[in-house]
Amino acid sequence: GDVVWPVITTGARLVHDDDDERIAVQDVRATVVRAGQCAVGDVLWHRPGNEADAPFDLLLVRDLAHALTHEPDQVALHYQPVLDLRTGEMVAAEALLRWTHPELGPMSPAATIEAAERCGLIVMLGRHVLRTALAQLRDWSSVVGPSFRMHVNVSPLELRNPEYVDHLDAAIEDAGVPAERVLLEVTETVLVSDEPVVQRSLEGIGHLGVALGIDDFGTGYSSIVHLRRLPVDTVKIDRSLVSGISESPADFLLARSVVQLVSTLSVRIVAEGIENELEAAHLRAMGCAFGQGYHLGRPAPAAVLLPAAHVEDDRPCSASA
Ligand code: C2E
Ligand code: MG
Ligand code: MG
Repeated sequence: GDVVWPVITTGARLVHDDDDERIAVQDVRATVVRAGQCAVGDVLWHRPGNEADAPFDLLLVRDLAHALTHEPDQVALHYQPVLDLRTGEMVAAEALLRWTHPELGPMSPAATIEAAERCGLIVMLGRHVLRTALAQLRDWSSVVGPSFRMHVNVSPLELRNPEYVDHLDAAIEDAGVPAERVLLEVTETVLVSDEPVVQRSLEGIGHLGVALGIDDFGTGYSSIVHLRRLPVDTVKIDRSLVSGISESPADFLLARSVVQLVSTLSVRIVAEGIENELEAAHLRAMGCAFGQGYHLGRPAPAAVLLPAAHVEDDRPCSASA
């Protein structure tokens, strides 16, 4: 019985015969989004020069869907080491998406994730990432220490899928890896979500014995109170809090306060984006036990991160800086 009042907003662009279809569709989408923000119920024409804020590319979505269904090898993972800042031992690796488009080459992971999130492909993409990372964990099981973990990034939208935990369970079972060796990185937005389905997914993850990590801590809206609500195992301090600490006393003090605050919980603290030895030393002194960043090891294909040499002996594995 509700009355619905439709408001139609249109974005338009003139198309010429020799225009690139990809660019044209991208321009129209950007214009529709802009129209929705400033000209609701109106028609807004595309103005050349505004291309840069195209929200996402429909043809990219088509190509990603094709890759996932027919050419999954295009959608690979690189792995970045997480090191113990005192011993240098590699305690975990983070799986990072690397999609190589057949014509456009390497695609930005953030843009790919954003496009996948906007069209629902994120569920299929997330499953592919999870299964690939778990298979890699199994393949590495004889060359890493018993507490080595695989970190996998998970989009909040994946947790909205009521089947997420069942799929996670099946993927772990199929890979034959212990659930405790898997850590799912979620962002702070997940912590503050009050959606029942997201809460159920988080509980289910805990019941399976899979660890939960908070990614990019310090950039979102959550507080230490939210962290206490869930069985969070690891907190990753965002790169933006780390990057200035070796030059700016104010940045140093801010990072130290965040580390001290998080230290009041019994969680592992991983500092992200460590780019030089001074940053690593400062973080170590602050009490941050673990770190990740270009200085400690860049994301690399699995075989580069843990080369065959490590297979032949049983030294504790540590990544080359
Ligand atoms: P993230 O999870 O916070 O991953 C860390 C990002 O920082 C990675 O970017 C990594 O390459 C980069 N990084 C690491 N160390 C340094 C450093 O010392 N300096 C600088 N400047 N950057 C560093 P990448 O691979 O481009 O990924 C960007 C984001 O895309 C990730 O941020 C994550 O949010 C998302 N992402 C990547 N792979 C996946 C995935 O499989 N699933 C989901 N849902 N998201 C993913
Ligand atoms: Mg991450
Ligand atoms: Mg991060």
